[in-house]
Amino acid sequence: MALMGARAYDVAFVGGGLAALLLLNELRGDLPERTVVVDPHPVPERPLIHWSYWSREPTLFDRFAVGAWRWARVSGVPPEPVAPFTLRLVRSTDVLAHAASLLEEAPVEWLHTAACSVSCRDDGLYEVGTDAGAIRARWVFDSVPEVPPVFPQRGPQAVVSGTGIRVVAGRPVFEPEVATLFDPLDERSFAYLLPTSPTEALLESARFDTEPQEEDPEPLLRYLEACYPEAGFSIGHVESGSIPLGFAPRRTSGPRHVLIGAKRGLVKPSAGYGVVRIARESKYLAHLWRRGQPLPPSWRAPGNWRLLDVGFLRLAGRDSRRPLALLDQTMRSVPLTRSLRFIDEDLPPRELAAIFRAALPTVFRRP
Ligand SMILES: Cc1cc2nc3c(=O)[nH]c(=O)nc-3n(C[C@H](O)[C@H](O)[C@H](O)COP(=O)(O)OP(=O)(O)OC[C@H]3O[C@@H](n4cnc5c(N)ncnc54)[C@H](O)[C@@H]3O)c2cc1C
Repeated sequence: MALMGARAYDVAFVGGGLAALLLLNELRGDLPERTVVVDPHPVPERPLIHWSYWSREPTLFDRFAVGAWRWARVSGVPPEPVAPFTLRLVRSTDVLAHAASLLEEAPVEWLHTAACSVSCRDDGLYEVGTDAGAIRARWVFDSVPEVPPVFPQRGPQAVVSGTGIRVVAGRPVFEPEVATLFDPLDERSFAYLLPTSPTEALLESARFDTEPQEEDPEPLLRYLEACYPEAGFSIGHVESGSIPLGFAPRRTSGPRHVLIGAKRGLVKPSAGYGVVRIARESKYLAHLWRRGQPLPPSWRAPGNWRLLDVGFLRLAGRDSRRPLALLDQTMRSVPLTRSLRFIDEDLPPRELAAIFRAALPTVFRRP
């Protein structure tokens, strides 16, 4: 597709994934006449991935939940209630399809092409370079990590890679009320198991490293066979991917070039989770936009939490076995709700002490 001349818009979304669709929905009633989404992949063609998350308050994802858990365990430790949280699992395709359907009546144009640059022109408009030519816009909401300013910015960074399989067991073996959040698979990866019935579950692996890892369902199958010998499993769906971890650029090409989603810095660097934060931040950005207030270009964790994430990423950069050892040590030592609150950056300093005590031997161990 080639664009004839540079088209002008009020708002351009560079990348039309989760963050863009949620913000578009928040702004739905207030969108200016000319809004465009630049994304090479139409929503119905996006691959299915499962998103797990926890929250105390209801979220807009809850209605799509294919599983919900109020009990969870770390392997080898008895199950615990995770109140006040509920863990849930949703399918990305359900969330994105619904969000896209709500926009059908909105004045939104979709350009199925890749963007490569955003720059500020002398007349105050932004120019978005795409494979089909340039477009111009007054506002740019940007969620594409590779488009400058790239995400993560220079400094400590890592990648969490994972493979997930949806399995059906030949006989009832799973406890559908209890999620297993952490169980080491080997020195570098751990599994988490989200059972949706006595015979069905989603089993995922995760590994923190310096480079993305290849999809490999084999360790997950071996894990199932070891935990539930002779149950017999069939695989219904396989998914895999990697999430870049690090910190968001602090500056963009101008005050109306606003980073959103993972590129905004909303994925917790030491966990890889972000969908609840992305939803919350969409509401916040829409609120600022409606009030005509400036929109901060990116998001920054408060100082102390940022330092902890820096430490975690440095550890992952030095030796990919260390993040797993750290998680193993801390998740077994403190109640699960405290680990979840830690990832949510919602623990008072006195409750952090137990986590530090558990983590220090791993942090200072010689490689
Ligand atoms: C396998 C996997 C499992 C995950 N599991 C969880 C989980 O359990 N819980 C959780 O909280 N998070 C999870 N995540 C992370 C979660 O998916 C992301 O945090 C979230 O999707 C980020 O939203 P976003 O809008 O920033 O990016 P995305 O949703 O990735 O959207 C970016 C968009 O940009 C488009 N794009 C790419 N290149 C270009 C280009 N050059 N020009 C224009 N558009 C472009 C893409 O097509 C995409 O639509 C997982 C991610 C993966 C990959």
